[in-house]
Amino acid sequence: MPDGLGPALRTPLVDRLALVGMGLIGSSLARVCRRKGIARKIIAADLSPEVCARVRELGLADEVAESAPAAVAQADLVILCAPVGAMEAIARKVGPHLRAGAILSDVGSVKSAIIAAVAPHLPEHVRFVPAHPVAGTEMSGPDAGFASLFLDRWAILTPPPGTDPAAVSTVVDFWAAAGSHVEVMAPAHHDLVLAITSHVPHLIAYNIVGTAADLEEVTQSEVIKFSAGGFRDFTRIAASDPTMWRDIFLANKEAVLEMLGRFTEDLTALQRMIRRGEGDGLFDLFTRTRRIRRGIIEQGQETAAPDFGRGRADPAD
Ligand code: NAP
Repeated sequence: MPDGLGPALRTPLVDRLALVGMGLIGSSLARVCRRKGIARKIIAADLSPEVCARVRELGLADEVAESAPAAVAQADLVILCAPVGAMEAIARKVGPHLRAGAILSDVGSVKSAIIAAVAPHLPEHVRFVPAHPVAGTEMSGPDAGFASLFLDRWAILTPPPGTDPAAVSTVVDFWAAAGSHVEVMAPAHHDLVLAITSHVPHLIAYNIVGTAADLEEVTQSEVIKFSAGGFRDFTRIAASDPTMWRDIFLANKEAVLEMLGRFTEDLTALQRMIRRGEGDGLFDLFTRTRRIRRGIIEQGQETAAPDFGRGRADPAD
């Protein structure tokens, strides 16, 4: 069955690509780069020997390097695909080994904190183009990846002021070849937008699933049995990787707290409407929110299928 990715490129965009971190995102990038011929050579590295062994078994890369410095030493484009909290340590380790003129990018879900952590470890001759593919699932690891993960999703680039435009253009072309739409924005703006579209929704899901799990009046088996009433859809998000999400909340603290403050105020207003029996207010809000979902479907970011598009992995981040 066609995967929607279209034909392979005539010539690779990148000669040697190094991917550091071969979980869901790193392995999906390796797959799409293979499938589309985006890089002539793919070099993979991961901290975990088990992940490295699995990457070899799956044949996801041309070479699995013994360490991150060994992987980046050969590469023209390096993409860090590790958890947000690991980025600084990786940058410190690989910085001295990066080639002159190499481009370093990443896929971290938070941008300002990563720029602050990574940039100081990069030599002058390296061009840094931070990025975030707004695509994912609640799964982790190299087996969870797939080539069409980024198809028709957005990739946001947040190059610091003064970044070489040629390097930005290479990273734009890279994500476009992977099937994504690309937008460039300031890192702080990215963090605010993602706080409301991704981070706070995850926090709400973690919270509601935690609350239900701790209820004393309702049994665990009832929560599971009657989950189709809405709870089930929160559990998908609340099953997301604990390391990744701990790092995101710690790294995007200010924007998350800002959006959480607004959310709490609106929740209090809703509470008041329910207490006072203000049905019209509730109806108006629910009508507006329904329009937002229609907009998301119209823009191809979700299907109208009653199963929430579960046939295809949902964007989780
Ligand atoms: P993942 O499946 O858990 O993969 C991360 C991989 O990085 C793991 O194999 C991990 O090894 C490895 N790693 C950890 N520390 C490392 C280090 N110091 N050096 C080399 N490898 C290291 O996570 P993911 O979902 O692909 O997420 C990776 C990044 O993408 C995160 O920054 C996340 O914010 C971002 N992102 C995720 C999504 C999503 O929906 N999942 C979407 C967009 C962006 P261990 O297993 O041994 O720790």
